[in-house]
Amino acid sequence: MLLCVLGLPAAAGAASIQEQMAQFPAVKTAIEELVTANHILYDQGAVDGYGHISVRNPANPDTFFLARSVAPSSVQVGDIIEFDLDGKALNGDARTPYGERFIHSSIYRNRPDVNSVVHGHAPAVLPFGLTGTPLKPVYHMGAFLGAGAPVFDISRFARPDPDTDMFVGNPVLGDALTQTLGQGHYVLMRGHGYVATADSIRKAVFRAVYAIQNAIIQTEAMKMGQPRYLTAGEAAKSQQTIEKTVNRPWELWRQRVGGP
Ligand code: MN
Repeated sequence: MLLCVLGLPAAAGAASIQEQMAQFPAVKTAIEELVTANHILYDQGAVDGYGHISVRNPANPDTFFLARSVAPSSVQVGDIIEFDLDGKALNGDARTPYGERFIHSSIYRNRPDVNSVVHGHAPAVLPFGLTGTPLKPVYHMGAFLGAGAPVFDISRFARPDPDTDMFVGNPVLGDALTQTLGQGHYVLMRGHGYVATADSIRKAVFRAVYAIQNAIIQTEAMKMGQPRYLTAGEAAKSQQTIEKTVNRPWELWRQRVGGP
């Protein structure tokens, strides 16, 4: 605050979120989109009272923004907290954070290409983390699923007791989840939910929403017979084409929730 009064540029990360929003237009845009994304994900059924979305700080790759522990539909700019890549809140922010912020911090620490992370418990995708049936692209909108979503089984990483509360509540489990995600952009969590990642908020929201649609179609198709999935080549080519257009559904979804 003092630095601003003196007119000196504050180092990113050392300044409050309000100061960074005033100083860096990209931070202001990211925070405002993050709020809208919270509302969209709820409106689209990708999160409910639980679940969260974060964005890497465009002014400082070593921090990220994530709401305090509230339902996504109620998130406002004032609810956003800045964290370091160990999941520690910055700026002395002592408000209650999401217990699973380590999903976000570990992915940002290990995947420099990722700038946004979504986590939720959408019911349609859960069966694919339970049965060994892989969630695979059945149409072009799910092309980012590639060869199929990997499944993070928390019991394989919990020591010494494999029975956990199913909660990614520390950096060790966050790193294990990130390892299972690999270089992909979608991972199922056995008995829990999913994580979607992307290089932008809009694309991460796109993937969170269309993974659910893909799961619904795949489940219906499997009732009729063996689905014919997109080939690896089809998935790669259609992902290239469709993900250039993520602004179109974003605009539709944004209008529905009335965001800026
Ligand atoms: Mn969760």
